[in-house]
Amino acid sequence: MFTGDNSMKTRTRYAPSPTGFMHVGNLRSAIFEYLIAKHDNGDFLLRIEDTDQTRKVDGAVEFIYDTCRLCGLNFDEGPNNPGKYGPYTQSERLEIYQKYAHELVEKGHAYYCFCTPERLDKLRSQAEENKVAFMYDGHCQKLSKEEVEEKIKAGVPYVIRQKMPKDGVSVYEDLVYGKISVENRILEDQILLKSDGYPTYNFANVIDDHLMEITHVARGNEYVMSTPKYNLLYEAFGWEKPTYVHLPMVNGSDGKKLSKRNGDASFMDLYHEGYLPEAIVNYLAMLGWSPETNEEIFTLEELVKIFDPKRISKAPAVFDIKKLQWVNAHYIKKLDPDALLKITVPHLKEAYDLTNKSDNWVKELVLLYQNHISYGKEIVKETALFFNDEIDWDEECQEFMKQEGISNTIRIFKEEIANVSDWTVENINAAIQNTKEKANVKGKMLFMPIRIQVSGIMHGPELPNTIHLIGKETVLKRLESIKN
Ligand code: GLU
Repeated sequence: MFTGDNSMKTRTRYAPSPTGFMHVGNLRSAIFEYLIAKHDNGDFLLRIEDTDQTRKVDGAVEFIYDTCRLCGLNFDEGPNNPGKYGPYTQSERLEIYQKYAHELVEKGHAYYCFCTPERLDKLRSQAEENKVAFMYDGHCQKLSKEEVEEKIKAGVPYVIRQKMPKDGVSVYEDLVYGKISVENRILEDQILLKSDGYPTYNFANVIDDHLMEITHVARGNEYVMSTPKYNLLYEAFGWEKPTYVHLPMVNGSDGKKLSKRNGDASFMDLYHEGYLPEAIVNYLAMLGWSPETNEEIFTLEELVKIFDPKRISKAPAVFDIKKLQWVNAHYIKKLDPDALLKITVPHLKEAYDLTNKSDNWVKELVLLYQNHISYGKEIVKETALFFNDEIDWDEECQEFMKQEGISNTIRIFKEEIANVSDWTVENINAAIQNTKEKANVKGKMLFMPIRIQVSGIMHGPELPNTIHLIGKETVLKRLESIKN
C-alpha cells in the first residue's frame, strides 16, 4: 500500500510498449489510470516503454497519442510535453538505469552474471528434461570480487541480476486482488540490466515509477505475481512503494483472451466504423468496474467524479460488442446533424453511388436513421433499400403479405400516391390517411403492407419519411409489382 506522505499528489502513468495498435484492453488501462489520477486532481503521465527495441513498431507512439487525444485522456506529462521528471521514453533513460543497477550491486542486492548463452541453454534443457520451470541457478553470485573485476576488465559481456532471498514469503496488498503472497524461493534472480546496457521491464518500471513519483501503479494483472520482485527492489533502495492496482484481463465474448478471432478490436478500427470516442470510453470504463448506482451512461467528467478503483472487479471482463453498440447508440441519438453526417456519410459514399443524390437528400436520410443505428457504418446496411432497385422480401414479409385484403390496401394506396403531385412528407402522410379511410384498415394492417411493399422490410423509421426518400418513381414501381 502507498503509505507515505498524504500530501503527495496522486500520479499515475500509462506505460505502453509501442509494439502495435492500441486495442481496447490497453485503452481500458489508460482510462482507469486517468480516472485514478483525475479523481484526486492528480497527474496522468505517458511513459513509452521501448526497451525491447526488437518489438518496436513505427508509428505506434503517434497512434497512442491520437487515441488518447480523441478519447480526452490528456497527459499532464509525456514525451511530447515533458515535465520535470523526463525523459519519458525509456530508451532515452539508459544511463539512469545503469547507474541504479550498479548501485544495487554495490549495496549487495544485485550481482554481475557472466554466464554464456550456451550455459543458460544447457540449464534450460536440463530443466525441461526434469520437467521443472527454468530458474537461473545463481552460479555467478559465487564469484569473488577479484574474479568479477578481472572479467569486466577483460571485456567479458555481463548482465546484472537481482539477488533474491532464498526463503521467507513476500506479501503485498493489491487494491483489486487483496493480499498477494509469494514464496521467495520461487523468485528467480532476474536480469535487471542486459548485456547491451538496456534494462529489462522488471527493472525499468521500478526505477521510473519511483523517480517519476508515481503513487498508483495500475497495470494488467499479468504483473501480479512479479510485483514481489519489484517490491524487493524498492526495499533494496529504501524507497516508498506505490499502491498497486492490478487490472483483470479483458476477454473476448468466448471467455478467451481477446484476439482477432473473438473480436479483438483496436480503438481506431472502432472509431473508423463510426463508434464515438465518448461512447467507447464510457463502455470501457464500465468493463470490470461499476459505480454504486445502476446507471450506465457517464461522460468522462462524470466518471472522474465517481471513480473508485476499489470497485474494480477481480473477475475477467468480457468485451461485448453488442453492449458497446447499445452504449454507442445512446450517444448517437444525441449527436447534432453535422456530427452525425461525419460518422455516416463517408460509409454511404463508399458503399453506394451518391452522385445523383442531393446533399439535402443525404442529410434527410441520415437524420431519419439517427435513432436506428448503433454505429456509423451500420447506416449502409440499414439504408440498402434506398439504393437497390430490387427489394427482396424475407419469409416473414412473405407470410404477412399473404393475408386477405392486403392487395386491396396496396391498390388503393397506389392510386393515392400516384395523385400526390407535390412530393412532401405531409402529402405522403395524407395519402396514407386516405388509404386508411378507403380501404377501411388501420394500425398494422394499414402500415405494414405499405411498408413491406415499398421498402421490403417490416420495421424501419417513420413510413411517410421513408417513402419521401425512396422517391415517387421508385415507390410507384415497387407498388406496381404486387407480389401476392
Ligand atoms: N509496458 C508494459 C506493458 O505494455 C506496461 C506495464 C505497466 O504499466 O507497468 O505491458
